[in-house]
Amino acid sequence: MNTANRPSWWESVLGLVFPPVCQICHDERATAAEGYVGSECRRRIRYIRAPYCQRCGLPFAGGVTQEFECSNCRELTLHFTSSRAVAEAKGPILEAIHQFKYQRALWFRPFLTELLLQEALPALRAASAPWHGIVPVPLHPVKQREREFNQAQLLAEPLAESLQIPLRNDLVERITPTESQTTLSRAERSENVQRAFDRRPGVQLQNQRLIVLDDVFTTGATTNGVARVLREAGAAEVVVWAVARGI
Ligand SMILES: [Zn+2]
Ligand SMILES: [Zn+2]
Repeated sequence: MNTANRPSWWESVLGLVFPPVCQICHDERATAAEGYVGSECRRRIRYIRAPYCQRCGLPFAGGVTQEFECSNCRELTLHFTSSRAVAEAKGPILEAIHQFKYQRALWFRPFLTELLLQEALPALRAASAPWHGIVPVPLHPVKQREREFNQAQLLAEPLAESLQIPLRNDLVERITPTESQTTLSRAERSENVQRAFDRRPGVQLQNQRLIVLDDVFTTGATTNGVARVLREAGAAEVVVWAVARGI
């Protein structure tokens, strides 16, 4: 028997609990080993490939060949060097993230992790200098108590393990909850999110090169806020990775 194809005990246990059905479309076969996402749904993932803005990772149609920064980035003060995401925040990947974080569908974690490792590891390993840690975007403590987990941390853990660098959730804290600010303008909201984070007491990061990880990159205000704190604490470089990105 080919042991590579034999399900692990954990997959066998899951197989007893969950039928091998795609949890996105509920219309095709998908086993625990496939992360409960079938091949049809996987085909609908829109991976972000070059060309994209070297700074924020916004993809562009067409044949831009040289490195460039989009007009949006030229107007902003960005504290990260670059930001990349696995795929566009739509279709199966956005569905999996939403179920994962709002409905505790933790069985999507291996699927999301697999995509993140597949895209992020080669890029991060190709860097000219070593990385010192990976920083999941923190939730406000009240929100984390409600949700009982931080989705960014659950996605950051396997990445840290693969890169053999520490997971650093001891550097930055979220000091203000920034949800439900419906009365504020987009610019005010963005400013608030960027000021929602603070460094934990005594954090010094001289010469450190860090990776900030979030599940979804929307405007970049959140990850930029975390990057600002890390740079102010002395970090030499901060890059951002996200599983999905708004386009
Ligand atoms: Zn499917
Ligand atoms: Zn840009």
